[in-house]
Amino acid sequence: MSKRDYYEVLGVSKGASVDEIKKSYRKLAMQYHPDRNPGNKESERKFKEATEAYEVLKDDQKRAGYDRYGHQDPNQGFGGGGSRGQSGGGFDGFDFNDIFSNFGDIFGDGSGRGRSQKKSSAQRGSDVRYNLEVSLEEAFSGCVEEIKFTIPSKCDSCNGSGSSDNSRPTTCPTCKGAGAIRVQQGFFIVEKTCHTCGGSGEIVKNPCKKCNGQGRVNKERTLSAKIPAGVEEGNRIRFSGEGEAGVRGGIAGDLFVYVSIRKHQFFTRKEADIHFEMPLRMTTASLGGSVEIPTIDGTKVMLQIPEGSQNGDTLRLKSKGMSVINSGGRRGDMYVKINIEVPVKLSSEEKDLLQKLDKIMQNKSSSNPKSENFFKKVGDFFK
Ligand SMILES: [Zn+2]
Ligand SMILES: [Zn+2]
Repeated sequence: MSKRDYYEVLGVSKGASVDEIKKSYRKLAMQYHPDRNPGNKESERKFKEATEAYEVLKDDQKRAGYDRYGHQDPNQGFGGGGSRGQSGGGFDGFDFNDIFSNFGDIFGDGSGRGRSQKKSSAQRGSDVRYNLEVSLEEAFSGCVEEIKFTIPSKCDSCNGSGSSDNSRPTTCPTCKGAGAIRVQQGFFIVEKTCHTCGGSGEIVKNPCKKCNGQGRVNKERTLSAKIPAGVEEGNRIRFSGEGEAGVRGGIAGDLFVYVSIRKHQFFTRKEADIHFEMPLRMTTASLGGSVEIPTIDGTKVMLQIPEGSQNGDTLRLKSKGMSVINSGGRRGDMYVKINIEVPVKLSSEEKDLLQKLDKIMQNKSSSNPKSENFFKKVGDFFK
């Protein structure tokens, strides 16, 4: 396994100052920190690699050794390639919690956060996603949806503390609250996460039996989710503090309701507009008239069909479309596309009338200007 040059890893020159090294590491650490890239192995690897390089280069003595011997520096505690007898050799075997405590000093806020800083055992609960499908009508008018889900919630027995007698967690006797212990390993003293308290520095004396000291149990919950009028496909509505309860008194996560909208049998939405297609009798298209059509708000309107409407013509009904979200009742438009239907299965009476009409039209070209023009051109073509 070949290792990258530490200077290259941090993207600094061989003569870089400690400040430059620190700055560069801070940038990489921000980018690849496991908290920001949960589950991303590549980020985790890069984060470890940068941390290792930083550990060596920030220390004058280690850096001098590295400059002289490279990764083979016999005086180097880390990265010696398995000489330390830890699993896998080098940094791969070190406790992940160390990364977090290490992280404290790079973002040092002057309050002494650093390697020995203990972490609280309380943890924020996870965010939760809930997929909600609503009808287009509901999206138009807004609605209140009762949603039901099972989720880790605050344990009532211990009021979320994880302790059966509601006592505050006490300082861990093994590490005296530091969260880590120092052990001798060969020539080196290394810091390891305390196994008694898992690094939190605190222990719960009498863990609550109902939640095993976690401070939370699974519960079914119902929530009235208010969906605003005009909500769009893929909109995400956040319900602060309605996600998973925190662990041992930590704050709760958030619930995110993702809205999707059911396909409607008549209406298609395009942003704030509603599109509607309808068949129309040939005679109505020709003579003009009015047709009653439905709208998304549940009412009917009389649509005026102009005389001589053509197939594919689109008529606009102003402000009869969808609600615009957070607009105080503003609405888009409705577009009605006309599909003219040629009559079929004619009775003999209908046929008679159409034949009479056809005869008249043969001698009166202005009623069908498109046909007239077209066949004139075809005639010219053959001349
Ligand atoms: Zn409990
Ligand atoms: Zn401990």
